[in-house]
Amino acid sequence: MSIEVTQSALAQVSAVYRIRVGDVLVTALSDGYVKGGEAILRNVDLDAAKAVLHATHRYPAVVEINTFVVQYSGRTMIVDTGAGGYMGRNAGCLASNLRAAGIDSLAIDTVFLTHIHPDHVGGLTDKADGKARFPNAELAVSADEYAYWMDDATMQRAGKNDRALFFECPREQLAPYRDRLRLFRDGEIFPGVTVLKAPGHTPGHTMCLIASGAEALLIWGDTVHVPEVQTAFPHAGVVFDVDPQGAADTRRRVFDMVATDRMPVVGMHLGFPGLMYLDRHDEGYRLVPMPWRHTL
Ligand SMILES: [Zn+2]
Repeated sequence: MSIEVTQSALAQVSAVYRIRVGDVLVTALSDGYVKGGEAILRNVDLDAAKAVLHATHRYPAVVEINTFVVQYSGRTMIVDTGAGGYMGRNAGCLASNLRAAGIDSLAIDTVFLTHIHPDHVGGLTDKADGKARFPNAELAVSADEYAYWMDDATMQRAGKNDRALFFECPREQLAPYRDRLRLFRDGEIFPGVTVLKAPGHTPGHTMCLIASGAEALLIWGDTVHVPEVQTAFPHAGVVFDVDPQGAADTRRRVFDMVATDRMPVVGMHLGFPGLMYLDRHDEGYRLVPMPWRHTL
C-alpha cells in the first residue's frame, strides 16, 4: 500500500530547541548544514577518522551550523548568525527558524560573534539590499579577531577564494554595523555571560560562558568541526584553522575543563541542537548528547 505524502510533509519541522540555564533562557536555532567529513580534517590518521565516523553513524558526514539566542532580564542576544547566502542552499535557514521560535529580529539588542568566518557572520546583513537583519543590535566582536580579518595587507596575501569568503564576506556583512561595533578583549559581554578566549581556529576565536545560580553552559563556538573525530583525537584540526597548534592547544584545554567540571556545552558545529556533555574516553573524549528536557 502506498502512502501519499504532500511536499510539506516531506520537509523537516523547524529546528528550534530551548533550555533554561538558571534564570537565562537559551534557544538553539539551526542555520542548516554544509557537506563535510574527513576531507576537511588535518593532522589525523584518515583511516582512524573514518573508523570513528563509521562507528558513530555519521555518514553521510555533514558540518551542521547552529546559532543560539540568549534571553535574560528583558535583554536578547544572538550568538553568531549562520551562513546567510554564502555557503550553499542547505544553509542560511536562521531567519525562518527565528520566526518559528517566535523571536523578533528587531528585539535582538546584541549580536555576539564567536569569530568572523562566513558561516558565523553570513546572516548579519541582507546581501540583496545591504540592510542589517538586526537593526537594533550592538555587534560584539573580539578586538583581536576584527584586527586580523580587517587588515588589508593580510587580505592581499590570501588566494582568490579565501579572499572572497574570509575577507570580503565579513567586510560586506559587518558594514551596516560599523557605528555600533563593540570590540571587546575580555569581561562580561551580556548580563550573566562572560567571554573566554579560545584562539587558534582564528586569532580572536572566543567562547562565552553563561552562568546563573548553580548552573552553567559553555558556548564553545568552533572548538570542533567534525565533532566525533576531534573529541576522540584532540590533535585533529581542520583545514580552516589559522593556527593549527594553537587550535589543538585550545581544544585540549577546553575539553579538560568541561569534562572535569561535567559542564554542558553547545557548539556551532555539533549535531543540532548542539547540546552535549563531554566524557573522557580512551586517549581522548566522547560526546554525550544532553537528554531532551521536557520542561523549562
Ligand atoms: Zn564555523
